[in-house]
Amino acid sequence: MKDVIKTSAGDVELAFIGHGSLMMTFGGKVIHIDPYSRVADYTKLPKADLIFLTHDHPDHLDQVALQSIRVTDTVVVIPPVCSDRVPGGIIMRNGDVQTVLGLKVEAVPAYNLVHKRDNGQFFHPKGIGNGYVLAFGDKRLYIAGDTENIPEMKALQGIYCAFLPMNLPYTMTPEMVADAAKAFKPKILYPYHYGETNPTRLTELLKDTPDIEVRIRPMQ
Ligand code: ZN
Ligand code: ZN
Repeated sequence: MKDVIKTSAGDVELAFIGHGSLMMTFGGKVIHIDPYSRVADYTKLPKADLIFLTHDHPDHLDQVALQSIRVTDTVVVIPPVCSDRVPGGIIMRNGDVQTVLGLKVEAVPAYNLVHKRDNGQFFHPKGIGNGYVLAFGDKRLYIAGDTENIPEMKALQGIYCAFLPMNLPYTMTPEMVADAAKAFKPKILYPYHYGETNPTRLTELLKDTPDIEVRIRPMQ
């Protein structure tokens, strides 16, 4: 299944690979986000011009998927935590802004405020993982990575399309996603990386917010 986002610089085609994995096509370039070999056979998918990794958990940094789609000229954007395992990547830290292959990229924070491991540590400590805001022409797309409804997310501006995770207990409940969405008001909201969480719960929570279109796609 594919969706098309119209922008002033041409169409962005979104492919929903599954889990936290997305593929986008824009201006003839193929962009993979967090490719994960358990949800697709990446040897059968187009090679990447650009790859974004949000953090180093095995469902986001997967060497099998990476090796299938990374070729000589592929540019890989990573947070510092991935640098030892992904040599040659462009390292972006929370807050960094950079133009990569003509695309303006902002790395934004992604972390937990509530959900912790039994040992008391957050699943995603602050400052480690990235979300990414990508500017395609006049449309800004936000891929949140593994995060909760943090203040930096709620302060985002001008986001046309957002991908927010609901995989529990690691990321957000539908209530947390609805809270964030009401704050930064994306026009289109895709719950993604939602695991066993029922995504229709989010549709219910946002039924009185008609300016936000919730689109449910097969992103367990
Ligand atoms: Zn994670
Ligand atoms: Zn994850």
